[in-house]
Amino acid sequence: MQHTHICPKCGGSLSLNGNSYLCENRHTYDIARSGYVNFLLSDQMNSKLPGDNKLMVNARKSFLSKGYYSKLMENFCDTVKKHAPHNAVILDAGCGEGYYTVNMAKAVADSFIMGTDISKTAVDAAAKRSRAEGVKNLLFSVSSVFRLPVKNGSCDMLTTLFAPYCGEEFLRVLKDGGIMVMVIPSERHLIQLKQAVYDNPYLNEVKDFQLEGFRLKEHISVNDEICLDSTEDILNLFSMTPYYYKTGEDGHKKLSQLNELKTEIGFEILVYTKK
Ligand SMILES: [Zn+2]
Repeated sequence: MQHTHICPKCGGSLSLNGNSYLCENRHTYDIARSGYVNFLLSDQMNSKLPGDNKLMVNARKSFLSKGYYSKLMENFCDTVKKHAPHNAVILDAGCGEGYYTVNMAKAVADSFIMGTDISKTAVDAAAKRSRAEGVKNLLFSVSSVFRLPVKNGSCDMLTTLFAPYCGEEFLRVLKDGGIMVMVIPSERHLIQLKQAVYDNPYLNEVKDFQLEGFRLKEHISVNDEICLDSTEDILNLFSMTPYYYKTGEDGHKKLSQLNELKTEIGFEILVYTKK
C-alpha cells in the first residue's frame, strides 16, 4: 500500500500489522484472503451487505467476460493512458467487479491503481480477478464513494464508470489539475433491449456535461452494436441495468423468451480537469 490510503474513521495514516491495517488511533481494517481491505464503517451500511449482491456481480462478470463491452474497455484504457502522468496514482471510484480497473492497471503498468466499491462481493471478485491475471500495481478496498479512504489531493486521476457521483469527495482526493475520467451511458444505449421489455421505451436522460469544480477537457463517444446469442446473456445484461429494479419480474418474463437480441450500445467518455 502506498501512503495514499488513510483511516476512514479518523483520517490517520495506516501501517501494516499482520493481516490488517492499523491507524495511529488503533482503528483496524482487515485484509481479506483474496487481498482487498475492508474500509467500510458500520455506520455507512444501510443494510448488512450494501451494494450489488452476488447474483448481480456474477451476472456482470459473466456478461463482461464475453467481450460485449470490449470496445468501451479499449477506448477507456486508451483515454486513461493518454491523460495519466508517469507513475500516476489513480483511484477507480465504484470499481464493481474490476473489469475496467484490472484492464486499466495493465494499460498503465507504471501507475498505482486503487479500486474501491461499496459491495464487498464485487470487490472480492475484483481482487480475485487481479490475482488470477497476475496484476500487481493495484489494491482493492471496500468503501463508500461518499467517504473515500484516501488522502486529500493524493490522486493524479480518478475514474468513475456507471457509478454514483460525489463531486465534493472526488475534488477532495484529486490533486490540483488532476484528471477525472467519467463514463456514462448515452441516449440510445440498450434501446433495443428496452424495446423488448417496454411498449414505449424512453431514451436515456443524459445530463449536462458541465460539473462544478471541473473543466471538460475531452469528450469521446463510443458506439457499437452487439448481438447477444443466448437467453442467459440477455438476462445477464438486463440485470446490469436500472430497468431491472423497475420491471424485474415482467421484464424477466419477456426477455426469457428470447434467445437472440441485437442492440445498440453507446457511451460517453468524459475527461475533466480539476479547476
Ligand atoms: Zn483511525
